Amino acid sequence: MSATLIDGKRIAEHFRERYKLQTAKLAAAGVVPGLAVVIVGDDPASQVYVRNKARACESIGIRSQVHALPSSISQAELIAFVQKLNADAEVHGILVQLPLPGHLDDRAVIESIALDKDVDGFHYANMGRLVIDESPFPPCTPYGVMQMLRHEGISVDGKHAVIIGRSNIVGKPQAMLMLKEGATVTICHSRTQGLAEHCRRADILVAAVGRANFVRGDWVKPGAVVIDVGINRLGDGTLCGDVHFAEASQVASAITPVPGGVGPMTIAMLLGNTLRAAARVRGLSIDEAGVA
Ligand code: NDP
Repeated sequence: MSATLIDGKRIAEHFRERYKLQTAKLAAAGVVPGLAVVIVGDDPASQVYVRNKARACESIGIRSQVHALPSSISQAELIAFVQKLNADAEVHGILVQLPLPGHLDDRAVIESIALDKDVDGFHYANMGRLVIDESPFPPCTPYGVMQMLRHEGISVDGKHAVIIGRSNIVGKPQAMLMLKEGATVTICHSRTQGLAEHCRRADILVAAVGRANFVRGDWVKPGAVVIDVGINRLGDGTLCGDVHFAEASQVASAITPVPGGVGPMTIAMLLGNTLRAAARVRGLSIDEAGVA
């Protein structure tokens, strides 16, 4: 392997340490940041994600509540539940774990979250702010990618960023954040013609596809930075990314591993967004160093 490993776990730890100090400062000012996580049904992967998020909160002093609701819940009941959290002064951030069971409308539920508690940043208004100006709650995964690059001293300004994936939670907000920082952005998806050719032109290649080992080494321009957002579970139970790591790491200048790359950053950014939500309620500001 010739590429430098971008160690997301280590970088996330660095952010968590900072956030821990900020949480203590907020607590000293009388605000104990609180995050409510709502999970509907019994999808095992979602349960693991929710547990990890709650554990991460507790580890830095954020009060977390996990609300596990039955998959039989109706749309109206779920929205009423979210509205109760909206009105709860101890809850500063609300996260509804997606995807919801099929009979529920993800979009309608997200839109029921109070704008200033939307720590996932998926509400229409916060997504719109991301496009036009700046969202107070940039979506955690793409924001984590940006913070990781910044931490490693990798500028995107003037670079060609190619993003594979156009989902609302990763691909599109990633493109917006890259664009804001001066990258020339190409967004690829399942209808893209000549995908490998597009990828070979990337200075920064972000894969958010959901297909194991999809991006091959010869799709990577020598010296490019490769960010692997994908999380795929193989038949033997192990996790791997969307990028063929063994091949791509021979060509790239820097690369994220899976696991231990973007995943830990996503959780760290959720903590940051929750702190920001808590601080905003009291009109407090958080040190620039704490919540960038
Ligand atoms: P989605 O399924 O919503 O989006 C996948 C995207 O990949 C779509 O835009 C799709 O195109 C595109 N795509 C699928 N097949 C191809 C193909 N053959 N060629 C080109 N593009 C293709 O997934 P998400 O964005 O939610 O997640 C992507 C991956 O990232 C998953 O593995 C997920 O588990 C992981 N993830 C990781 C997180 C982390 O914290 N590390 C957080 C969130 C997600 P089209 O739109 O045309 O269908």
